[in-house]
Amino acid sequence: MKKIQAKVKNFCQKHNLNSSLEHRILDLVSEVGEVSKEVLKMTDYGRKSPEPRKETKSELGDVLFSLVVTANLLDIDLEEALEEVVEKYSRRLDKGGSADSEND
Ligand SMILES: [Mg+2]
Repeated sequence: MKKIQAKVKNFCQKHNLNSSLEHRILDLVSEVGEVSKEVLKMTDYGRKSPEPRKETKSELGDVLFSLVVTANLLDIDLEEALEEVVEKYSRRLDKGGSADSEND
C-alpha cells in the first residue's frame, strides 16, 4: 500500500494535481456514487446477478485513486489504517458480534 500511495503522490506532483481536502472528499463521494450507479446498471437494478464489466473495474479504480489522494493529503498511512480496522473487526467478531456492529 505504501508503494501505491507513493505512486499516486508522484503522479499528482508530476501533473500538478493539487486540490483542497474539501474538493477531495467531494470527489471521493462522487466516485463512490459512480460505483453504485455501475452496480445498478450491471444488475439491472437488482434483477440480474452481478457480472463485473470493465466499467466496474474502472469505477473502483477511481474510488481507490480518490481515497489514496485523500489519505496522502492527510498524511495517513492506509496500510496502517487497514491493519487497525481489521484488528477492530476481529475483536468485535471474537466477542460474538458482527464486524459492523458498532457505529464507528
Ligand atoms: Mg468514476
